[in-house]
Amino acid sequence: MAAFFDTSIEYLKGVGPQRSALLQKELGIFTYADLIQHYPFRYEDRTKLYKVNEVDESLASVQVKGVITRFEVVGTARKKRLVGHFQDDTGPLELVWFQGIAWVLEKIKPQVEYLVFGKPNRYGSVISLAHPELEPLTAASEKGKYLYPVYPLSEKLRARHVDNKFLVKLQQELLKMALPHLRETLPASLLHEHRLISKKEAVIQIHFPRHEGQLLAAQQRLKFEELFYIQLRLLKLKLVRQDKFKGLIFSDTALLNTFYKHHLPFPLTEAQKRVVREMYADMKTGHQMNRLLQGDVGSGKTIVAFICALLAIGSHAQACLMAPTEILAQQHYHNLKKYADAMGLSIALLTGSTKRKDRKPLHEALQSGELKILVGTHALLEEEVKFHKLGLAIIDEQHRFGVAQRSRLWQKNSEAYPHVLVMTATPIPRTLAMTLYGDLDISVIDELPKGRKPIQTTHQYDSKRLQVNAFIRSQVDAGRQVYIVYPLIEEPALPAGRSEKLDLKHLMDGYESVTRAFPDVPISIVHGQMKSKAKDWEMARFVKGETKIMVATTVIEVGVDVPNASVMIIENAERFGLSQLHQLRGRVGRGAEQSYCILITDYKLSADSRKRMETMVRTNNGFEISEVDLHLRGPGDLMGTQQSGALDLLIADLGKDTAILEKARAAAKAILEQDPELTWPQHQTIKTQIDSSKKTAINWSRIS
Ligand code: ADP
Ligand code: MG
Repeated sequence: MAAFFDTSIEYLKGVGPQRSALLQKELGIFTYADLIQHYPFRYEDRTKLYKVNEVDESLASVQVKGVITRFEVVGTARKKRLVGHFQDDTGPLELVWFQGIAWVLEKIKPQVEYLVFGKPNRYGSVISLAHPELEPLTAASEKGKYLYPVYPLSEKLRARHVDNKFLVKLQQELLKMALPHLRETLPASLLHEHRLISKKEAVIQIHFPRHEGQLLAAQQRLKFEELFYIQLRLLKLKLVRQDKFKGLIFSDTALLNTFYKHHLPFPLTEAQKRVVREMYADMKTGHQMNRLLQGDVGSGKTIVAFICALLAIGSHAQACLMAPTEILAQQHYHNLKKYADAMGLSIALLTGSTKRKDRKPLHEALQSGELKILVGTHALLEEEVKFHKLGLAIIDEQHRFGVAQRSRLWQKNSEAYPHVLVMTATPIPRTLAMTLYGDLDISVIDELPKGRKPIQTTHQYDSKRLQVNAFIRSQVDAGRQVYIVYPLIEEPALPAGRSEKLDLKHLMDGYESVTRAFPDVPISIVHGQMKSKAKDWEMARFVKGETKIMVATTVIEVGVDVPNASVMIIENAERFGLSQLHQLRGRVGRGAEQSYCILITDYKLSADSRKRMETMVRTNNGFEISEVDLHLRGPGDLMGTQQSGALDLLIADLGKDTAILEKARAAAKAILEQDPELTWPQHQTIKTQIDSSKKTAINWSRIS
């Protein structure tokens, strides 16, 4: 049965070796299974038949029925075109071809009734359809009105005549043969409970729906199935871990109490306390903790992570924190070091740029157990990095690490898996969290420390620069400090070159005009091309308050914490993604003073950019912002999520299918709770499906 769907696409009628190679390369279609799951991305409405006198150019596409009375070749050489004078009983219409004239004249016959489909244009009083699709009117074609599928294609394919019509033919061909091989993949109880149509119906109707209702039913069914199996696997993974992986038991709270009594720099917020309790409950039970800690910028995740580390260290284990970039790792190190020093615990930083001669003692201290906390980048994953007893792995990832990398950290303790705490600085929507981190428990810090005033955000056009400068002046005069941020691509992973140079020029020009506008104000500048010493020196001056304005690129996104800074000005704000804007804004509002964020853009903005600006102005809530981001960009483009295979979805859309996802997860959970091993007869459909997709599952190979 599975063998049928494993058949190479090459053997499908009309394909052959050359087209098969093209389909593989351009669309990733290798087998029958790939083709049948190559779903349309939109549908043309061919359920409606227009009369010629109803057709006007405002319609996206029309279908009409009639005859071509005569053909006429108009113009010469490159301007040559073929006009087919077409009509029905209500009036005339022109069909126009600029290419393939000979072919059309050979295939299309005058005085024969055709169904014609195309996009109407108007030239003067004449309505025309350029390069229309024609189909001879037969009993079957007249009856077979449907929503016509439009498939994802590439230019290269079109150039080689593998066009939509061709794909439609292939799908029809394949469906005919495939139907007997399509087995139901969801148990009857779920179909019934969630009113889902059968797999067979769904596959037919997703490609060739006769009307909107059929299409919706097909989508609903296939989305549910996709999300159900993702959730089932994630929940199963979690169950297995809870059952099989013994967690280290950290119940000694003496160290924690010392910290609480003598070194806590501020009272914890209720949300911080709750999260600490959740983590302690995990860590003392003997189950391995796998927890995601979500919290908005400035919500105070660092101290929570430190408290969690204290639990591990208090029971004679070690803790590590891995961050995705060097700057982030440094920042974490500096923040944690304050607390660690107060407690007399040794802490070290290990990144790609740690010198060889410094590494050896570090490795030794780590292996002897003398070093309690290690902060760093991917460098932590290196072979030579061996812990005496790793008890807690904290991962600050902004969704940049895949599950596989996370699991490599677990291997660092050979006796028992360490507890794992994943922190995300950018809150992500629930749907995304449930899919990216569906195998984890989730804790949320949904409260900012007391006394913070919400940041006031405005959006200004370039033309308002004088007013903006006047505002900067008033804030500087009041003793505050100001950030002015420019976009600049500076990650080495990105292709450097022209845009980078241009960005740097903008930054330098900006710096110049700021120095001209504020000749008497000390100003710092920091960007990625500077030597790290120079950068640190400039940063330090700003932190100490010696400079009042910091002109910078996004390095400061994760860099410094200056409570006296009360204004964040973001130049070319349209070039930043929403979550990045939100992160940048989080650099201010850390002190007691009212803070401001000014987004400066060009007057001309795309609809998406406008929506981003509006959202920033409207809300300070990171969760809300991430929801909008998800809607605007789709999950694949949210900060770094591309690397997570869990998002290669065929049909479901995490930005929109929240309701289906919730249902699918609940259904998966209920089934696993009753029958964790899936041995019940009514769950055999599920078991078969999981087993058969194990071989081919791309997404999950990285997890297991
Ligand atoms: P994030 O969640 O963005 O990592 P941090 O842990 O860096 O936030 O905390 C942001 C700032 O708030 C830091 O300066 C930190 O010392 C401070 N902070 C954290 N928790 C509290 C609290 N409960 N009360 C007052 N200030 C706090
Ligand atoms: Mg932080």
